[in-house]
Amino acid sequence: MASFDSETRTDSKDNPSGGETAHEGAHHTATRLVHAGRDPKAHEGFVNTPVYRGSTVLFETVAELETGNRRYTYGRKGTPTIEALESAIAELEGGVRTVLAPSGLAAISSALLAFVEAGDHILVSDSVYRPTRLLCDGLLKRLGVETTYYDPLLGAGIEALVRENTRLVFVESPGSQTFEMQDIPAIAKVCRARGLWLIADNTWASPLYCNPFRLGVDVSIQAGTKYVVGHADAMLGTITANERARNAILRGNQALGLVAGSEEVYLALRGLRTLGVRLERHWQAALEMAEWLSARPEVARVLYPALESDPGHDIWRRDYTGASGLFSVILKPIAKPALVAFLESLTLFGMGYSWGGYESLVVPFDLHGYRTATQWRPEGPALRFHIGLEDVRDLKRDLARGFAAMAAATS
Ligand SMILES: *Cc1c(COP(=O)(O)O)cnc(C)c1O
Repeated sequence: MASFDSETRTDSKDNPSGGETAHEGAHHTATRLVHAGRDPKAHEGFVNTPVYRGSTVLFETVAELETGNRRYTYGRKGTPTIEALESAIAELEGGVRTVLAPSGLAAISSALLAFVEAGDHILVSDSVYRPTRLLCDGLLKRLGVETTYYDPLLGAGIEALVRENTRLVFVESPGSQTFEMQDIPAIAKVCRARGLWLIADNTWASPLYCNPFRLGVDVSIQAGTKYVVGHADAMLGTITANERARNAILRGNQALGLVAGSEEVYLALRGLRTLGVRLERHWQAALEMAEWLSARPEVARVLYPALESDPGHDIWRRDYTGASGLFSVILKPIAKPALVAFLESLTLFGMGYSWGGYESLVVPFDLHGYRTATQWRPEGPALRFHIGLEDVRDLKRDLARGFAAMAAATS
């Protein structure tokens, strides 16, 4: 098995997907996607690591039972299937250890609970995924942890918000729904100087298009539900740590008893094998659709860091090696029935939550009433698009039909 512990990695510009150079046994990302976490010899030659379903593991001797000194001891503590995915994700994200959770949100709560205690203060981006916010304002608050939300554009200015009892910073870049890019290296510098942990929700970039550890992050989270699984058919979360955060993350996840289902883990391993080619296509198609939408008379703005006109474009170019298929569009003001006509006339874009599957999606969103550090004043209705793997010519035609229905409902 390609073990993440035994591989040497260095920073390099010659690999566009992860900044790792291929030398002496280490491979480029496309190759790693195919080979990471696989060991056919250990499974009678079968290409894929099988689904181990298991709780009980039998011990041969009393001595073995008493010392617990063997590779597998109990289903919750790991199976070959779970280890295969953990090692592959750790390798791809450039961390030293990954643990799994049954959903992206479970990975976020596990990572936060691993570090905080009563009396602590944490700094969380104002543009964070909404359920992360609900966790901070609900459970964490009840446990005596206070959250301050910060302007995602603050960068090094975050230092002014650090208190004596601040424990960690939680970044999500680009921001959920609004896609503000954060200056993670500047925030990381403050974290190092002030002894804070830095946790990043890296779901948008996937393990391929941002290596958060190179930017100074201690813990990187993926909602594996999105691009890793990639087919809208399973829920999964991953938590990847650097050396410094490794033990805290392991202990935290074990204390909570979080286990990802074996079938879900298998689906994630399967999704991983095609992640590279899928993402390239999502990126290319999303860029084309974002440019096309920018030129439409009904559109006020498109929020997508891969667009040259985007305010976060320079940071994206500096820190990321690619873009995924998710962006938002602010329409010019229209009446609600016109918006409804647009959305309900689409046949290829489904309306629904989540993203990262092979299919195109759209959801309207409204942030009024919950941002606290920043103001969100869109010119008109806001829509979040996920561009799937369909032919972009058909996607454009579908949206053009929607805009025609919008116009008909307006006149
Ligand atoms: C979807 C999502 C999550 C949560 O993942 P689930 O698997 O749905 O719990 C967390 N962070 C981001 C950025 C997401 O988009």
